[in-house]
Amino acid sequence: MSVGLGDVTVISGPTAVGKGTLVRELTKRHPQVWVSISATTRKPRVGEVDGTHYHFITDAEFDELLATNGFLEWATVHGAARYGTLKAPVLQAVAAGKHVVLEIDLQGARQIREQLPGARFIFVVPPDFGTLRQRLAGRGTETAAEMERRLATAKAELAAQSEFDRVLVNDDLGRAVDELVDLIGL
Ligand code: 5GP
Repeated sequence: MSVGLGDVTVISGPTAVGKGTLVRELTKRHPQVWVSISATTRKPRVGEVDGTHYHFITDAEFDELLATNGFLEWATVHGAARYGTLKAPVLQAVAAGKHVVLEIDLQGARQIREQLPGARFIFVVPPDFGTLRQRLAGRGTETAAEMERRLATAKAELAAQSEFDRVLVNDDLGRAVDELVDLIGL
C-alpha cells in the first residue's frame, strides 16, 4: 500500500453519503492524517471557508493549473463544476511520510489508480438508496434540480463500487470511522 514514504487512501462514494463527516471524524481521532484540499470552480456554500474546505478558484485559474500540469487528477462533477487534486502538496505530504487522504469522485479515483497504483481505494455506500435521498434533502443546500442531478450521478457511481478495494457502509458513524481507521492501519 505504500507510495513513496507515506501512503495514499482514496475515499469515494455518492453524494451526501457522509464522506466529509467520516474524514472529519478520522482527523479528529488521528490529527496526523493529512487531508488534501481540492481546488474547485464551484461557489462556496454558506459556512465554507476558502483554503479550508476547498481552494475556491475561477475557471481561468483552473485552466492555468491544467496548463501547468498542476493536478494529480481532475473532473467535472455532477455536470456542474470542476474539481481537482493539487499535485505538489500531495506529493510533498507523501514524501514526508504522511497518511494522505483524498476525498474525490469516481472519475478522480480512476485517474489516481493510474497515477498511484499503490494507493488504497475505499468506496463509501449508504445502508440503502432511500437514506441517501433523505440525507441530501436534509442537508438543504441544493435546489430540487441539483438534487435530482446528484442522485442520478449517485446511481451510476454505486454501480462502480466493485472497482474499489473496500466498500465501507456508512450505517453508524462511530462504527464506520473504526473501520476506516482499521483500513488505513492507524
Ligand atoms: P461537493 O460539491 O458536494 O463539495 O463535492 C461534490 C463531489 O466532488 C464529491 O463527490 C466530492 O468527492 C468530489 N470532489 C471533491 N474534490 C474533488 C477533487 O479534487 N477531484 C475529484 N475528482 N472530485 C472531487
